[in-house]
Amino acid sequence: MSSDVPPLARTPEEWKSALEPLGGRAFHAKQVFRWVQARSVLEPERMTDLPLALRQSLGALELPQTLVVSDERRAADGTRKLLVRTRDGMTVETVLIPGVTGPKGRLPSPVPETEGAMEEGDDDEDEGTPAAEDEPVRVTQCISTQVGCAQGCVFCASGVAGLKRNLGPDEIVAQVLLARGSLGEGERLSNVVYMGMGEPLANYEATARSLRLLTHPEGVGLSARRITVSTSGLVPEIARLGADFGGKVGLAISLHAADDETRSRLMPINKKYPLARLLEALRAYPLPPRKRITIEYTLVAGKNDQPTEARKLAALLRGLAVKVNLIPMNPIEASTLGPPDMGGVLAFQRILCDAGYSCFIRRRRGDDVAAACGQLALLGAKPKVRVDRR
Ligand code: SAH
Ligand code: SF4
Repeated sequence: MSSDVPPLARTPEEWKSALEPLGGRAFHAKQVFRWVQARSVLEPERMTDLPLALRQSLGALELPQTLVVSDERRAADGTRKLLVRTRDGMTVETVLIPGVTGPKGRLPSPVPETEGAMEEGDDDEDEGTPAAEDEPVRVTQCISTQVGCAQGCVFCASGVAGLKRNLGPDEIVAQVLLARGSLGEGERLSNVVYMGMGEPLANYEATARSLRLLTHPEGVGLSARRITVSTSGLVPEIARLGADFGGKVGLAISLHAADDETRSRLMPINKKYPLARLLEALRAYPLPPRKRITIEYTLVAGKNDQPTEARKLAALLRGLAVKVNLIPMNPIEASTLGPPDMGGVLAFQRILCDAGYSCFIRRRRGDDVAAACGQLALLGAKPKVRVDRR
């Protein structure tokens, strides 16, 4: 059965059954898992504690070819966007975002498990914290779960492009293994957000397996609270995620509107799972004490950015443990939609703050290398149609 699981997505137990026919023992399985997941070593010849015969059998799996970095672009703010190519020639993106730093020594190698006064997952809220010279820079990685996306949100490059295929769990995890291998000297991967191309919960099995792997203590070893899954609101899968991970994985909801009419216009998924059902799913999510759900609200000029909408949003979220991230829309090639001016963004934020919410305006990171989710990958393959949905 384990042979059905792609090698980079195997648990130590699955490696054990895969290696048995090749004469491998249980401890060899653990060693392979650790080389791959904890150290990002994908070349069998570098797995020095394995018997030669096993290394040769592993060689046939061509692990380093699961994903290959085809381009890396660095923005002035330190953000790096990696374009990665799959075995079948598809391209997805993953983004590394250097953020706050933590005191040295609190971040054990290879992957940090940081403790701090900040609420878990809120690392980038104090991006302004000055960094002492010898402190590791904490890096958040944004990963993709699909090539394109079937959800068709009108402001999103991936949505306009449509879905090409799901990524496998190995391809999701490989983004972290690859990028971690290329972190700079003083950098540590501290958080992973599922906010790249695709809808993670529309590819549930692969997403769930990747979460289990990234949180495996013998592997990448991230704690679940350092990982956030962002969804456009697939109600049944939100419940499933909550049940499968006991609410420990951070949840971000792309809300973008506070009434059904507006939301359905921006996000077709709302016709299937309207706000009442979505809010019900959020209330039922088994959040640990003191944790909050992140509400993402992309501000689109003339569509969802008016003070009345901010007030509606405040009323809609009443009673829920949330924080709100406002994201001025990044313009995309395929649409004439765009962000409101900064005055509008600040006015919107003010209303939510006055209503008692934690509300942050998200900086657009890496603006000079590409804009929003999915856009870098699309630079090489522009959608044929220009969509004007105003
Ligand atoms: N499919 C998931 C995760 C990927 S999108 C989701 O929709 O939540 C990650 C976030 O980027 C979402 O909140 C999405 O709405 C936002 N986004 C997509 N395109 C954008 C754009 N052009 N400008 C600003 N935010 C955008
Ligand atoms: Fe898909 Fe998310 Fe883009 Fe909507 S915003 S099209 S769900 S990737």
